[in-house]
Amino acid sequence: MAQVRRPMMAANWKMNKLIREAEEYVAQLLPRLIDNEGVDVAIFAPFTCLQQIGRMTQATPIVVGAQNFYFEDSGAFTGEISAPMLKDVGAEAVIVGHSERREIFGETDEMVARKTSRAIGAGLLPIVCVGETKEERDTGEMWDKCSGQVQSVFEELDKKVRGDDIVFAYEPIWAIGTGDMASPEDSQAAIGKIRALLEELRGEQFASQVRILYGGSIKLENIGEVMAQKDVDGGLVGGASLDPVSFAGLVNATLSS
Ligand code: PEP
Repeated sequence: MAQVRRPMMAANWKMNKLIREAEEYVAQLLPRLIDNEGVDVAIFAPFTCLQQIGRMTQATPIVVGAQNFYFEDSGAFTGEISAPMLKDVGAEAVIVGHSERREIFGETDEMVARKTSRAIGAGLLPIVCVGETKEERDTGEMWDKCSGQVQSVFEELDKKVRGDDIVFAYEPIWAIGTGDMASPEDSQAAIGKIRALLEELRGEQFASQVRILYGGSIKLENIGEVMAQKDVDGGLVGGASLDPVSFAGLVNATLSS
C-alpha cells in the first residue's frame, strides 16, 4: 500500500528576529492557519527565541525547531549547544547540514551524519539539507554531490531508525535566497532520485515514509506547482517565511496542492 506522507511546511528564520519580534510573528501566524490537521507547520528559529515560541504554541501542533546543534551532549565545546539543551527549551526538531552551515562554517558530511544520528537519538526530528552549487550543476556533478551527502548520513545511522524519524530537504544552493527556484520538474527529478536512493539503502517501506522537502526561493506564486509533484512532501522556506502573512499563505497553499 502506498504510504501517505503528511506534508510539512517549515520556516527557516536564519539569524533573524528578536524575542519580541518572534512573539509578534506567532501572534499573527496562529489565527491565519486554516487547518492544523493536514500539514505539519514547523518554525526553525534562533536559539534565543525557542522557549518563548514553544510557550506560545504549546496548545497547537506547531513544531518548534532549532537551526543547528553540536553532536556531543556536554563538555568543553565553547559556544556550542547540545541536543539535550535544545530539548530543555522545548525544541522538537532541528535543521542539520544547511548549506550555510556547510559553506560558511565548514561542516563536513561526517559532522552532518553525526548530528543527524545524535538528533534522532535525543528525540529531535532532523531536517537534513542536501544540494548542489551552480557550478556542480553546470558540470554534471549534481547527483554525485547530493547522493554523497545522503549516503554519508546512512553510514552513521542505526538500522533501527524508521523513515518517519528523519526528513530530508533538497535545497539547490543556487536557488537559496536568489529568487531563482528550481523548476517543478527538476525538483521532482532530484527528490525522486533521493527517494530511490533511500530505497536502495534502507528498503521500500523506509523510503516511502521519509518526507523530502524542496527548499530554494519558494514564494506564494510558485509553491503550487512544486507541491503538486509526487515525491515533494513540502517546503523549507527562508526569505518568504519571515513575514507571518506570507508564511501562513504558504502553509495554506500546501493544503490545497
Ligand atoms: C533556506 O535558507 O533554507 C531557503 C530555502 O531560503 P530561501 O527560501 O530564502 O531561498
